[in-house]
Amino acid sequence: MSRLDIVICSLPFIEYYLPPAAPAVLKGHLESRGFTAKSIDFNITVKNKFENNNLPEASAFFQKRYEGLLAKNPKLQKEIDQLIDSWVDQLLKLNPKVIALSVFSVDSRVACELIIERLSKKKHNSKILLGGMGILEDGAETWLETVLDHIDYYIIGEGELALENLLRGNTNFKGINGRVDQITDLSSLGTATYDDYDLTSYETFYKSKDNFKKKVVMITGSRGCVRDCTFCDINTHWPKFTWRSSKSLIQEISRTYETHGIRDFYFTDSLINGNLKVYMQMVEGLAQYNYKTNANITWGGQYIVRKDKNLSKEYFPLTRDSGAYNLALGVESGSDKVLADMRKGITREDLDIFIENFDKHEITCMYYMLLGYPTETEEDFQRTIDVFYDHQKYVASGTISGTTLNTTMAIHKEQPLHTEEGKLFVKDKSLDSNWGWTSLVVPGLDWEERVRRRLVAQDVCDMLKWPTISSDREMAQLNARHTEYLKWKSGSKLQNIEMRPDQSHLS
Ligand code: SF4
Repeated sequence: MSRLDIVICSLPFIEYYLPPAAPAVLKGHLESRGFTAKSIDFNITVKNKFENNNLPEASAFFQKRYEGLLAKNPKLQKEIDQLIDSWVDQLLKLNPKVIALSVFSVDSRVACELIIERLSKKKHNSKILLGGMGILEDGAETWLETVLDHIDYYIIGEGELALENLLRGNTNFKGINGRVDQITDLSSLGTATYDDYDLTSYETFYKSKDNFKKKVVMITGSRGCVRDCTFCDINTHWPKFTWRSSKSLIQEISRTYETHGIRDFYFTDSLINGNLKVYMQMVEGLAQYNYKTNANITWGGQYIVRKDKNLSKEYFPLTRDSGAYNLALGVESGSDKVLADMRKGITREDLDIFIENFDKHEITCMYYMLLGYPTETEEDFQRTIDVFYDHQKYVASGTISGTTLNTTMAIHKEQPLHTEEGKLFVKDKSLDSNWGWTSLVVPGLDWEERVRRRLVAQDVCDMLKWPTISSDREMAQLNARHTEYLKWKSGSKLQNIEMRPDQSHLS
């Protein structure tokens, strides 16, 4: 039997509710090119092993939270060690030519480090490759450099073509041990395959209206974005907006339904309705599929509010009939001034018309809000609060399922807004200066004020019965950050941290 070409593994920690897309996408593409590939989700084995006991602690271990936690729990430490050993044994037994480890985010680094360290002590002749967003840090390769001795290759960016070339032996292909060029023709890639996953293991991403638990798989229709919001780093990662044809999307959805019985899909896209022409073809095709087959396909994901004048009269009916479900709308602010500063490309009036149409056509959605933009005055903030009051009727009707209030505005190097440092804001020298910044144009808008606004928004939402998604976790993060901030502000024993800059000029 010929040797397996590649095993692609996803690593903890990732939330447990969806099968990870990257290994399935890469496997599908490589198989379409004649290679043998297997995808393994090590992340879900953490849930399977610990779900009745110690799951939060085991998950936290991989997220590198609660340092020292396992010192107090040697039994758990031993069980985690055994689990990691079992992963390594599984890889050695499969003996592929390439072991690819998908470092989805910084939360997957602990598992990655442990696996490559243990593999380095074993005898094998598989090449080890790393990929995924988590290998970079603010766009830099700082962490990657610490593991280079244990690996053979890495790929920064979209992996399909680079991996295909690596398996062909073309190791000079741009992106192998470097950054890939963005893929411009997504329709030419093979489609994702979830055959290696046990889809019953995943927590449900959401429930249907009749409370029936949905099994959801991810699908990619486009990469990049048609907009260029100042607070968003999407165009740094995907400078061009690229998309798949509606035909290949419908094929992937119908094939997954017909082979796995999966009806519910979640788009990984930054926005599903970026290319209006392809979007309309897709919703029309899916609506036809739903009419003909009774498949009741549903799909969700991130979505932009569009101006009504650009939409055809079929836009909302076909969106509904194609199965749109709980679309995540980037609303961000209720202030036209802040929306313009963010380059959102919409106004509050556009949002009002859009959500009214959703309500009329029974299309469900949730809101993403972003509090504390550097130009957000108290009056602007009140305009955002107005949205919660004015749109409460859509929560009551079931059109809006809730909102994320987020952990307030963070500013990091990969956002366009970062170039405004010194003009719109100044960064504190706190431990996490992405959150620690002060506006130079709105007096008093600093971390403390942003936290205050976040708490006010929470109170208003609670009072109006707006569900606030992930608010428990967000509050825990805010608390942890605020504790660090207070330590820093008081100039306590933290080292290498300068005191807060003088801001008296703002008052
Ligand atoms: S926030 Fe959304 S619409 Fe704006 S650039 Fe990012 S992905 Fe695009």
